[in-house]
Amino acid sequence: MNVFEAILLITFFSSIAIFMPDILPKCDCCGTFKLRPFIKIHKTVKISLGYKGVKSVCTKCCRQYGILFYEDYLKLVHSKRIAKINFLNIFHN
Ligand SMILES: [Zn+2]
Repeated sequence: MNVFEAILLITFFSSIAIFMPDILPKCDCCGTFKLRPFIKIHKTVKISLGYKGVKSVCTKCCRQYGILFYEDYLKLVHSKRIAKINFLNIFHN
């Protein structure tokens, strides 16, 4: 293996690592990895490589919770957090 082949291999694997969140996104609602046709909402939130910069919600969760846009998903996360806080306060008092 010469230098050119090594550079080609490094470029190939780094490009796979960079484009992996777009090929196989992770649903933020149920936490499973699904292929791109099963994802309804796929939005870039931050400038960062990997799964941190991309938010995606699958079609199953969209149908289950009635999510049409990304803002609806943010409302769902907020309401889930408030419900969890109220549930924990019941046992604390
Ligand atoms: Zn999901």
